[in-house]
Amino acid sequence: MSRFWSNTTKNITPYVPGEQPKNKSLIKLNTNENPYPPSPRVLEALRSYALSDVKLYPEPESDTLREAVAEFYGISKDLVFPGNGSDEVLAFLYQAFFNRDDLIAFPDITYSFYPVYSKLYDIPYREIPLRDDFTIDFEAYPQDLKAIIFANPNAPTGIAITLEEIEKLLQQRPNTLIVVDEAYVDFGAESAVPLINRYDNLLVIQTLSKSRALAGMRIGLAFGCRELIMGFERIKNSFNSYTMDRLAQTAGIAAFRDKAWFDENRYKIMKTREAVKAELRAMGAAVTESMSNFLFASIPGVKGSDALALFREEGILVRNFKSPARIADWLRISVGTDEQMARVLEVVKKIMERTPNQ
Ligand SMILES: *Cc1c(COP(=O)(O)O)cnc(C)c1O
Repeated sequence: MSRFWSNTTKNITPYVPGEQPKNKSLIKLNTNENPYPPSPRVLEALRSYALSDVKLYPEPESDTLREAVAEFYGISKDLVFPGNGSDEVLAFLYQAFFNRDDLIAFPDITYSFYPVYSKLYDIPYREIPLRDDFTIDFEAYPQDLKAIIFANPNAPTGIAITLEEIEKLLQQRPNTLIVVDEAYVDFGAESAVPLINRYDNLLVIQTLSKSRALAGMRIGLAFGCRELIMGFERIKNSFNSYTMDRLAQTAGIAAFRDKAWFDENRYKIMKTREAVKAELRAMGAAVTESMSNFLFASIPGVKGSDALALFREEGILVRNFKSPARIADWLRISVGTDEQMARVLEVVKKIMERTPNQ
């Protein structure tokens, strides 16, 4: 601690990302990256990029990237805001829309960056418990909230809600900003992007880190009505005119123009997920109905921290969240290649064999 630290710096508890090991021989299923390389068109666009152009600033408003995203969704480019990873987009969300006397809410089990930002920006928040089956209970949310934030599918449970449920929420709470974090939506859930033209209280957040295999490029997106997107632009242009570097914009444009790769990749991952889900259940593990690129599973009679350590001994990194306590014995396992997942199943079998029957 330095005596120069601000009160915020002293008091904040930073988010802890999953480990990025130097040892490449570990099977890395701990941060929900895509196990496959990005579209060959992305790689080609990066390889053929005129590198000397990095002497010039990038497009400040990422217009070409916005056009590529808008074309993919059949919307206007003015309704798209790109940022340096969706984590940055979420940080701008807090600055653009929340005051210190607003109350916001999100599920008690969800992406753990939401409470971190709430504390960083000093925004009062409530964490509303999921039901026992890990579904979101919107009836339990207070009225007069400035915003409700949730991931769909939710993290780390993988459970998705339907567009009808989202639309009902938008209608029931016209004065609450409904923020749907769709980091995993491309793996089988329904995107709420088509609703942005009809609801001025909807913001959708997406990332290219998972379904487009570009975690290392840091590209996130917000979608909303023009007035909401202008809120993001006002904050971005008061912080850093150029949050999206030239290579990130180049990669993002190529990614959105290659729908064939996108569909093939996500269907492959969904297929692997469903196969491993069925195998784990057949072995007796509890597994949620994940619609994302990870499985959320619990091995009966095995503590989460023990299972995590046993996986690591076997050279596999997965994730375990200690709080809240009711998910402490669950593991979040990213969906890897079929070969990697075969190893996961071997390790689960081994763990179960050494565990006395319940
Ligand atoms: C991975 C993830 C993000 C962050 O994505 P980046 O674009 O890599 O910053 C945001 N929200 C959820 C729910 C995530 O799982």
